[in-house]
Amino acid sequence: MPTYNHIACVGLGLANACLINELRSMGFTGHISVLEKATAPDTHKRWCTWKPLPSMLRDIHANEWQAWTIKKRTEQHSLASVRHAYTEIKASDFWEVQLARLNSDPHTSIHYSTDIANYKKIKDLPLPQSAPLDLIIDSRSIQMANSQYQQQFVGWMIETRHASFDPESAQLMHFTEETDRIAFLYCLPYSETRALVEYTTFQFGAFSREQHTFALKTALNERYRLTDNQYTLLSKEAASLPMGSYPHPKPLSGYWPIGIRGGAIRGSSGYGLLSICEQAKRYADSILKGMARPKAPPVNHHLTQYLDRIFIRAIRKNPQLGQDCFLACARKLNSQQFVELMRGELSFASALKVIASMPTYTFLKALF
Ligand SMILES: Cc1cc2nc3c(=O)[nH]c(=O)nc-3n(C[C@H](O)[C@H](O)[C@H](O)COP(=O)(O)OP(=O)(O)OC[C@H]3O[C@@H](n4cnc5c(N)ncnc54)[C@H](O)[C@@H]3O)c2cc1C
Repeated sequence: MPTYNHIACVGLGLANACLINELRSMGFTGHISVLEKATAPDTHKRWCTWKPLPSMLRDIHANEWQAWTIKKRTEQHSLASVRHAYTEIKASDFWEVQLARLNSDPHTSIHYSTDIANYKKIKDLPLPQSAPLDLIIDSRSIQMANSQYQQQFVGWMIETRHASFDPESAQLMHFTEETDRIAFLYCLPYSETRALVEYTTFQFGAFSREQHTFALKTALNERYRLTDNQYTLLSKEAASLPMGSYPHPKPLSGYWPIGIRGGAIRGSSGYGLLSICEQAKRYADSILKGMARPKAPPVNHHLTQYLDRIFIRAIRKNPQLGQDCFLACARKLNSQQFVELMRGELSFASALKVIASMPTYTFLKALF
């Protein structure tokens, strides 16, 4: 049975931060060397999900919306839950807490500006000689092939001159008329005049950042009647993320992929926060027990993973179906069932309800 006394974590992002947290809270006393290519963690993004949050995130400040909507043209569905509010954790708040912990941990050393192009490079680093390296946990991003199923978005934090948003309700998906990809406007309203608005697409292959920006401006104009001179742009964000069908690199012995690299991201939605926290917990448990890498699916439940795979297979042939599926779920599921679906924690009964709410004929036609 292996014992892990010295671990290298490649990348200081969400996944490795969660792992280190779990390891220390479970009593791991070995050395942890963190190797991060940037000069500091990325504090600009935010992570959203439905409550309850994993225990390690509960003492971090979070914004929440107790109602959320899904919309296409005149069809709008509003769902609400106090217990399962839609919650946002800002990376800046997350890292304030995490870095305070990491920097005061005498057995964790962080090496910034350390770009690990390949594992051989790790041998040349000034890591503690007294403790040879037993395991490498790798969270580096991997180059996506152009045809892979991916999520892309461009988001703007804006301040408008006049009241434009309903701060009580987050807009999860306001679908556009595009038929060759899933495309929607996402809006997190912080007040009547301030919101994060994002134009998001799910598709096989890339759609350029310029096209996203153009679509975002058009949507602001068409949906909120906001022209350029009616708002101030406060900050921008943009990202491309792999979704379910992504061929993850085969893990070598002694090297465990984690986070997005480890496949812990939902194929149907691109949400990763909960599955990454769950994966970190499982990895920490195996490390403490001196076991091999856990083989359980990184996305929380087998059932969820299975449904996500079918969903991706169907929308490959008929992208329009993706919008119909989300709308059908919002129409037919209650808030509790919808949250179970989005959190990846479907009970068998709720899974049957999800399947029953799908546009069956179109779905089967796309599958076979
Ligand atoms: C902008 C954005 C918003 C998101 N929003 C949500 C959300 O609202 N809800 C949700 O559930 N999920 C969300 N996700 C998906 C997912 O939860 C996040 O991407 C999450 O941060 C993934 O964690 P990770 O540790 O796998 O990767 P990251 O957090 O990206 O960490 C990887 C780290 O590895 C470092 N690195 C990369 N290459 C090297 C190298 N060669 N050598 C050393 N270090 C390297 C990077 O600098 C980075 O610090 C979002 C993703 C993005 C990009």
